[in-house]
Amino acid sequence: MADDLLQVDVELPRQSYAIHIGTAILDRLVAISASQAGAQHAVLVTDSTVKSLHADSVADSLREAGLRVDVLVIEPGESSKSLGVAGQLWEDLLATGADRTSLVVAVGGGVVGDLAGFVAATYARGIQFLQVPTTLLAQVDSSVGGKVGINLPAAKNMVGAFWQPVGVICDTQTLSSLPDRQFSAGLAEVVKYGVILDESFFAELEDNADAIWSREAAILRRVVARCCELKADVVGQDEREISGLRAVLNYGHTFCHAIESLTGYDQFLHGEAVSIGMLCASRLAVSMGRIDSALTDRQQQLLTRFHLPVAMPSLDPDQMIEAMQHDKKSQHGRLRFVLPCQLGRVELVEDVDLDLVRQSCR
Ligand code: NAD
Repeated sequence: MADDLLQVDVELPRQSYAIHIGTAILDRLVAISASQAGAQHAVLVTDSTVKSLHADSVADSLREAGLRVDVLVIEPGESSKSLGVAGQLWEDLLATGADRTSLVVAVGGGVVGDLAGFVAATYARGIQFLQVPTTLLAQVDSSVGGKVGINLPAAKNMVGAFWQPVGVICDTQTLSSLPDRQFSAGLAEVVKYGVILDESFFAELEDNADAIWSREAAILRRVVARCCELKADVVGQDEREISGLRAVLNYGHTFCHAIESLTGYDQFLHGEAVSIGMLCASRLAVSMGRIDSALTDRQQQLLTRFHLPVAMPSLDPDQMIEAMQHDKKSQHGRLRFVLPCQLGRVELVEDVDLDLVRQSCR
């Protein structure tokens, strides 16, 4: 098993840490990481679905390793990333006697990771936390890079911090209990990494699409590790989204956010809207003469093999543009798009002809 354990180092000016990727490693590695962090008290934050599936056994292994352990359980779903739930967790932490020597262990998807990370970043002016992502999206994306936060009723991820974990443990075995639709949504972000940063990784996804869809452990470990490497490299160069480099990770997201906002956030999972959004961005790049339409076709075929939606829902293109202008990532209403210039390379493009944008979201 040791040979199957992969490691990606996230090198940052203030705090570097390792991401461990393996299969059936969870209980052993969480206990090791907690002891390396010097913790004697661990507070596991999880949701009610993940608790019995994966978090209870993590709690047991921490107890066996001699730690005092408390488990805090939230309701699954985006609505838990709220000030109310964060406030409850602060109170709960206090009630467990948590102090600066305690370790918050986030066991769950991106909701648990973002929320527990935010609570760790703010409780007692910041305590250590360990990320144990259990969805594909969380393993390849949200657990890497230190963005933590909660939603405001009118704006997603509006309140938060950059707070790096002491480590990340990705166990691909946890993905075996994930519903197909959630797994598929995570694959949209996986495809995104290939398009924006790594042509040969994209080809590897094409070659192994069936094995990936069947969740074969060896290929999943490779896929998760490569995505973490690619994201870690971007985050290492632009931790706080200052230079603009980190923006490449938003490929497809300008369209995606508008689709999510116009469909009320309940028709599509985020990854599904990313899938459609990437194809809109790719069509836009074709219409601007930046790439050949064969590149859009390749993305569409791979996304289809991963059971992702590829067709634009019937939305008014003018409303799409309005929603994009209100997106918090647009600068003073000016639209900026991350567009491919070849497979594995993207550029940030401003001042795009709005007629072309309208055509690309049909
Ligand atoms: P999620 O956390 O809501 O999890 C999806 C569902 O899967 C939940 O119902 C959960 O209970 C269930 N689940 C989790 N693990 C499971 C498992 N192993 N088996 C069975 N069920 C399981 O959603 P998500 O897609 O993981 O994360 C989405 C969140 O991530 C959003 O809030 C988004 O804003 C955030 N995000 C953050 C970043 C970042 O950089 N911080 C990046 C991307 C997304």
